[in-house]
Amino acid sequence: MSRRKQIYEGKAKVLFEGSEPGTIIQYFKDDATAFNNQKKGVITGKGVLNNRISEYLMTKLNDMGISTHFIKRLNMREQLVRKVEIIPLEVVVRNTVAGSLAERLGLKEGYNLPRSIIEFFYKSDELNDPLVTEEHITAFDWASAQEMDELVSMTLRINDFLSGLFFGVGIKLIDFKLEYGRVFVDDQFKVILADEISPDSCRLWDLNTNEKLDKDRFRRDLGSAEEAYQEVARRLGVLPENTNN
Ligand code: UDP
Repeated sequence: MSRRKQIYEGKAKVLFEGSEPGTIIQYFKDDATAFNNQKKGVITGKGVLNNRISEYLMTKLNDMGISTHFIKRLNMREQLVRKVEIIPLEVVVRNTVAGSLAERLGLKEGYNLPRSIIEFFYKSDELNDPLVTEEHITAFDWASAQEMDELVSMTLRINDFLSGLFFGVGIKLIDFKLEYGRVFVDDQFKVILADEISPDSCRLWDLNTNEKLDKDRFRRDLGSAEEAYQEVARRLGVLPENTNN
């Protein structure tokens, strides 16, 4: 691991140069952070589980024709992905009220929204990822109007697909965050899904008990975070035998 060129170290992942041009390696750490880095900890085995869960979900999305950066899983903690120019947005989809939406608008967590809501946050640690609108996004050239159209229609498809997939394993998809990037193909830029989809970036509640099976267990000190991530992997059928490698 150490001999490869490190490109970037984030809160939950490290990026290394891939062996082929145009590829990078995502290494999934066990580190967990919340509240813009104010709370830090470790969820043992999380990196291994997120690597598997994200592999599983991105592969399904690729299979149904949604372009993602995922190429292949390399080992327990690493996957090979396409290098993209990241669009500096966190695209959040909400099916049920929770988290910052509940706080911002004084709503009770758990209210099922009459229609899914997409929110955009500008990725900036210094500014604490502020909520922005499409007007800001296009005015400041973070993404073009055409890219936003592509990204929104992909996001809605992904939401429908993931909601159904999780429902099938007894999990309610409350909300989640996606990140997109652009790649240059056939003389033009194309938007593809990047980053990861995992219990770090989704709120997942057990369908029958509403038990939280995601990073809120860490954020809110609910305990058993590791077991919750394992439960999600187990239900998706991707629980590895040993999560400590
Ligand atoms: N989320 C994320 N990274 C972030 C902020 C949010 O993955 O930096 C995810 C979060 O896990 C949840 C959804 O996006 O599934 C909505 O998060 P929210 O805006 O409610 O913020 P939070 O409560 O996480 O601060």
